[in-house]
Amino acid sequence: MSDLKSRMPAEWRPEGRTLVLALALCAVVAATAYVCIVFPRDQGRIAPIWLANAWVVAALLRSPTRNWPLLVGFGALGDMAANVLAGDHLALSVGLAASNQIEIIACAWLVRWRCGPNFDIARVSHLLTFVVAAAIGPALSAAAAGVMLGLSGRQEILQGLMVWIEADALGLLTLTPALLVITQKGRPPIAWREIWTLAVLAVVSFLVFFVARYPLLFVVSAALTLPTWRMGLPGAVAGCAIIAVIGTVAAFTGHGPIMLTAPPDQIVGLQIFLMVSLLTSMPVAVAHDASEGLKARLQAALDEARAARIEAERSAAVKSEFLANMSHELRTPLTSVVGFTRLASEQRDLSPLSRDYIDRVGEASRALLCAVNDILDFSKLEAGQVTFRPEPVALQALTRTALDMFTPQAAAKDLALQLEDTTPTGLLVTLDPDRLRQVLLNLVGNAVKFTAQGKITLSVAYDTATERLAIEVRDTGPGIPPDRLDRLFKRFSQVDGSLNRGHGGTGLGLAICKGIVEAMGGEIAATSVVGEGSCFALSVPAPRAQGATADVAEERQPAVRTGVKVLVTDDHAANRELVRLFLAAIGAEITEAEDGEAAVRAAAEQTFDVILMDLRMPKLDGIGAVTQIRGAVGPNQATPILAFTADAESAFDDRLQALGFDGAVAKPVEPGRLISAILGAISSDDLDEEAARGVA
Ligand code: ADP
Repeated sequence: MSDLKSRMPAEWRPEGRTLVLALALCAVVAATAYVCIVFPRDQGRIAPIWLANAWVVAALLRSPTRNWPLLVGFGALGDMAANVLAGDHLALSVGLAASNQIEIIACAWLVRWRCGPNFDIARVSHLLTFVVAAAIGPALSAAAAGVMLGLSGRQEILQGLMVWIEADALGLLTLTPALLVITQKGRPPIAWREIWTLAVLAVVSFLVFFVARYPLLFVVSAALTLPTWRMGLPGAVAGCAIIAVIGTVAAFTGHGPIMLTAPPDQIVGLQIFLMVSLLTSMPVAVAHDASEGLKARLQAALDEARAARIEAERSAAVKSEFLANMSHELRTPLTSVVGFTRLASEQRDLSPLSRDYIDRVGEASRALLCAVNDILDFSKLEAGQVTFRPEPVALQALTRTALDMFTPQAAAKDLALQLEDTTPTGLLVTLDPDRLRQVLLNLVGNAVKFTAQGKITLSVAYDTATERLAIEVRDTGPGIPPDRLDRLFKRFSQVDGSLNRGHGGTGLGLAICKGIVEAMGGEIAATSVVGEGSCFALSVPAPRAQGATADVAEERQPAVRTGVKVLVTDDHAANRELVRLFLAAIGAEITEAEDGEAAVRAAAEQTFDVILMDLRMPKLDGIGAVTQIRGAVGPNQATPILAFTADAESAFDDRLQALGFDGAVAKPVEPGRLISAILGAISSDDLDEEAARGVA
């Protein structure tokens, strides 16, 4: 025997769990069948619902087909035992059990064939297949039983074959889905909070079947919608089971609206009622479950999106911190390279070759600086970190200066620069002048860069009704092919890579322009005809400045003063040296400090006109030093202090002002800007003093 066992293929050997399932099935089928046979028979009736087969069908649908023979065999044993115990003839018992097995196998096989092993009663198509199978199976078994009963002379049962089909179908439709729902792996949890809906249904059913004097069956149907809608499939199945139990007990004890019909129709009436209840509530339940599933998936997708957004924000924060550091690390050495190259090129005794080399270094370092600035600008725009500071701006002065900046380059190429300005004279509008200038320099710069001959026109118009500013930059350059126009404002887009190698550039300029213009609430677009030229047009909201006069916004030329005492604080000796060299032009007296502590010491000893303060330094940083200088009762408590920084955040803002700074000088430092910032700080300080004296 053990030899035979060892030779059997592994999959033929039933697992322990399957054997236990088969034995349990045998017992439960026997018990259910016995109740369904004996109870109605004692009442002289036929069972309105046959539940025994439903157990086996559920077991088959949850098992691989190789286990089916065993499960069907044990189910049949239970069935036969129940019939024999109920007093039926052995041959009849075997025959009835056999016809039940036809029903079971037909139903389970149809479902497995159509829906596969992953049968899911909660899917509409699977549910419909099951309903059809639950009708075909009983019809086949009824036909087989009919033949048998006819042969055995049990004519009274033969007459009720329709009742048989309905009873079996009802059993399959109520109990099997319930078992499948309970044993469904990974099914959504049963909403136990909604269990009260079943209690309501039970009470309503009890009242309708046992208490009411009128045929109020429809009230039961209405009550069934409650658990169906609140609990989905488990609610519908449990609800139908409750109605079936209460209805059956009522029918056998002579209660309920069903009893109002004539005796042979009573069972059929009850069956039809149960069947209709099932067939209407189950699809509704499945639809409910599907919508709940969708809701759950939507929620999961929303949670995922939220998590992704948090992650994106986190990495954006990391990126901007990285950028701030990089901006510092890149701009600081560039400050020295650009500045010292300029100073070196101004030396008189240079050989032509040395001058050529120095010029090349200067050109390359300026290009590198432009690229670094572009990348930093673009990253800041992308991260939404660019702050806009609208202020009253004299538009005509701004556009004229922007165009004039390109006079040397245009003259070198024999290009004409033309300004068409139709704005009202002295017009003051509110916008961020630095950002608008940045866009203009980019557009005019491109036009000059790419145009070989002809002219560049900057046209400026103002619509007083809509308070919008319209600017166009037109050139007579090579033009841009239509298929490239839409990509123009995308980052790193260059129309002709080979052409650009000659001109340089990062391909970020227009993307930055678009970012700035859109952040200002405007729009920008390009039109072009290849061989004729291009036109870049932008329009931005520019409300008229309220209460300001033209003089306010005109750039104030600070009066040049010599002998200005400046404390330059920077941990890089090269930067201090650069400032010393640049400020030599106005005869400034420079004191150097290499960190915050040295600056505080120097500020305690002598009075300065201006203090230039680097922000990031070892020992004591700029903010700490300013706090101490402002806090101490010393000679420089009220001296103007300018932040001197290469940070991406170098622009002077409310934060710096609140910390005690009076302005900022951005690195890489430019001689003009440095001198005008120093003199500007002194002149406003002088004005303050004069005002103070006037008041006194
Ligand atoms: P870049 O730094 O390369 O100039 P931009 O974003 O400013 O980057 O420009 C992208 C590309 O668009 C340029 O490389 C060039 O090919 C094309 N382009 C921009 N302006 C003009 C123009 N006025 N005429 C022809 N081509 C232009």
